[in-house]
Amino acid sequence: MNYDVIIIGAGPGGIFSAYELLQKDSSLSIAVFEAGSPLEKRRCPIDGKKIKTCIKCKTCAIMSGFGGAGAFSDGKYNITNDFGGTLYEHIGKAAALELMHYVDSINLSHGGEGTKLYSTAGTRFKKLCLQNKLNLLNASVRHLGTDVNYVVLGHLYDELKDRVNFFFNTPVDSLDVLNGSGFRVHYKDTFADCRKCIVSVGRSGSKWMEQVCRRLDIPTKSNRVDLGVRVELPAVIFSHLTDELYESKIVYRTEKFEDNVRTFCMNPNGFVVNENTNGIVTANGHSYDSPSMQTENTNFALLVSKHFSDPFKDSNGYGESIARLSNMLGGGVIVQRFGDLVRGRRSTVTRIEEGLVRPTLAATPGDLSLVLPKRILDGIIEMIYALDKIAPGTANDDTLLYGVEVKFYNMEVEIDENLQTRYDGLYVIGDGSGVTHSLSHASASGVYVARHIADGLARRSE
Ligand SMILES: Cc1cc2nc3c(=O)[nH]c(=O)nc-3n(C[C@H](O)[C@H](O)[C@H](O)COP(=O)(O)OP(=O)(O)OC[C@H]3O[C@@H](n4cnc5c(N)ncnc54)[C@H](O)[C@@H]3O)c2cc1C
Repeated sequence: MNYDVIIIGAGPGGIFSAYELLQKDSSLSIAVFEAGSPLEKRRCPIDGKKIKTCIKCKTCAIMSGFGGAGAFSDGKYNITNDFGGTLYEHIGKAAALELMHYVDSINLSHGGEGTKLYSTAGTRFKKLCLQNKLNLLNASVRHLGTDVNYVVLGHLYDELKDRVNFFFNTPVDSLDVLNGSGFRVHYKDTFADCRKCIVSVGRSGSKWMEQVCRRLDIPTKSNRVDLGVRVELPAVIFSHLTDELYESKIVYRTEKFEDNVRTFCMNPNGFVVNENTNGIVTANGHSYDSPSMQTENTNFALLVSKHFSDPFKDSNGYGESIARLSNMLGGGVIVQRFGDLVRGRRSTVTRIEEGLVRPTLAATPGDLSLVLPKRILDGIIEMIYALDKIAPGTANDDTLLYGVEVKFYNMEVEIDENLQTRYDGLYVIGDGSGVTHSLSHASASGVYVARHIADGLARRSE
């Protein structure tokens, strides 16, 4: 089989690559290989009754399949260069923002119309945060919600399915550079060839990506890992912030160690969920747009970034070891009341049941101080007290902390200003490149390479 373009991975990066390629040239032959299932067949077996916690499926339905890791996410498309990745370092700030707005317009025209765009521009919370040693980052955020995000993905698939060859449940085993030009993609004991190849394998494909880079001698550099907890509290405590901003990205510099602790992925009236990355279970969160599917709680992560210096290079391995420790002690994610943590005692089922906050995730009550390094835990506790000044009640005893939350960053693949590796025609985009860490940046990177490829192919045929 021969294609003009093969895309590996059907997450936002892969989907927006395919979409934009067809906008630019509808005659292109395109194949998408995806390790997971089509959207409608993606089902996590946790039903809360028979199966209560993660059973570590071979291919995680939350992380893999059409829509990628973003399919059941909160669908928060942050339009900003301040966080979510460093795409701008490759393509420039103005181009990155323009592409994020373009992605937003496509989401709106595929089922997202009517959803709200929140913005920090001119907000009074900026001053309130600064008065309390907190820094509120600038952003616009489109909140699709898990429900509308799913609808948008469905519409995008309907538009693509007859024009693109989708191979679901088909992980690509390896990738070869052909003599002359082009690439060979090996899967299920067979192969397909293409002129251009876009690799968009996300976080779940990080180990595979490392192998490919090693084999093809594509330089990489080790990245950081973010460690922390997911906080869950009554939604009213944060409602003055979330009603206006939806997601507030707030950074706090700790007094003790001068580390930065930041809020991440805020989900008003949402759910805390398990995330399975390569068999390691960590905490995450999402929320629905529809009021009928909302909870009385808000959740967000508090994370501390760890960068390592020589001789240690395996930052993800460090994060994995800590997550494994929590999995070893709790069989998965551990939950602890803030009051129990500061009193130096574990939480128990009874203490959680007696508390005011009803957990939205069935996690194991335990002691996070046995899992998280002191420096990180101290930073998180300091930040909870700082947040209590702008959102009184954050530091209540019954506030729940789920651990651990880890943001694994793919090692950064060496790519140029066209997101192209040292091989002409081999592009690495989205979270798999280590350059993006979000829906909007990953999607924007897909549009960017699609335009570059379409322009190049058009020039060649002239
Ligand atoms: C629970 C959750 C909530 C989130 N919420 C948000 C949010 O609200 N806002 C936000 O900006 N970000 C959010 N994120 C992060 C966001 O989902 C990712 O940044 C985004 O999906 C990255 O897109 P991507 O296309 O680069 O990779 P992915 O979405 O990870 O897609 C990669 C795809 O490649 C496939 N793949 C991997 N290896 C192979 C292989 N060898 N062969 C074939 N296919 C392969 C995978 O199965 C996967 O489907 C969330 C993530 C999770 C898990």
